[in-house]
Amino acid sequence: MILLGSTNANIGFPTGMEILRSGGSALDAVEATIRPVEDNPADRTVGFNGYPNILGDLELDASLMDGRTLESGAVGAMKGVIPAISVARKVMETLPHVLLVGDGADRFAKEMGFESAAELLTPEVIAARETILRQDMSAEEFEALQDTDNLRQWVRLATDPERTYGTVNVIAQDKDGNIACGVSTSGWAWKYPGRLGDSPIIGAGNYADNRYGAAACTGMGEMAIRASTARSIVLYMKMGLTLADACAQAMQDLNELGGSFIGRMNLVALDKDGTPAGYSSMKGKTFIYQTDAMADYVEQERTLVEIEERWG
Ligand code: ASP
Repeated sequence: MILLGSTNANIGFPTGMEILRSGGSALDAVEATIRPVEDNPADRTVGFNGYPNILGDLELDASLMDGRTLESGAVGAMKGVIPAISVARKVMETLPHVLLVGDGADRFAKEMGFESAAELLTPEVIAARETILRQDMSAEEFEALQDTDNLRQWVRLATDPERTYGTVNVIAQDKDGNIACGVSTSGWAWKYPGRLGDSPIIGAGNYADNRYGAAACTGMGEMAIRASTARSIVLYMKMGLTLADACAQAMQDLNELGGSFIGRMNLVALDKDGTPAGYSSMKGKTFIYQTDAMADYVEQERTLVEIEERWG
């Protein structure tokens, strides 16, 4: 059995490993590993206290996929509820749908008994938004954001990598060999309201299939949507590529995307035999994993595959 994920998942690893060690399912381990990350106020990219959209509203995206059946659940641009990953699981388990967004996701969460979290942003993050945005706009422009008919001009501020990137990815394989994959994020800081990234899109930021493996992404979600990255990795393994070749090919697909908006990408992936992998378009990025034979998780550098960044 194995648990792997983006490095910011480390806070949830003890709980997730405990579940796997006591014979629990990969699905339970993934959900339980992600929940503490969503609760962590210091993580500005996931759940509670994540950086909000350009108007100051937190919009959460999350998805969960069960590699046994390919059943999936996801929420997108959900405003008032955490843990988003658990709402995604309820979508999977109780509805004939896969993805709920916006008000519908919030409404469903309440129906399922999740408390709406009235204050999902701390005063510190609310103040940080103003400080950061005010580096690029006047006080008048900041005040007028809610009503402007040219909000789109400020989306360029969502391109600063120091401010925007991050998401949690977790993949688990349990003692029965079942695989599950979960992803949760507050998305790009300062994104346009209503923007969905790859995280709630099955096949883009998340995919799991017991027969071949699983993959999940962090980075510029639009690219993973366009290239169907998580599904591509699993499909490449189905077609006979090794885990390493499948990941390298998926990174190459991203590098070959045309158009004007190309940024960073990171992958974590697992093959059906329980081999973990991490890839990044940036040098020095890490991922973590732990097997039942290991007392603690290890942090390992991701394999670098460069992607030429361009914007506009
Ligand atoms: N992939 C996420 C998104 O596009 C953000 C990130 O991982 O940095 O919303």
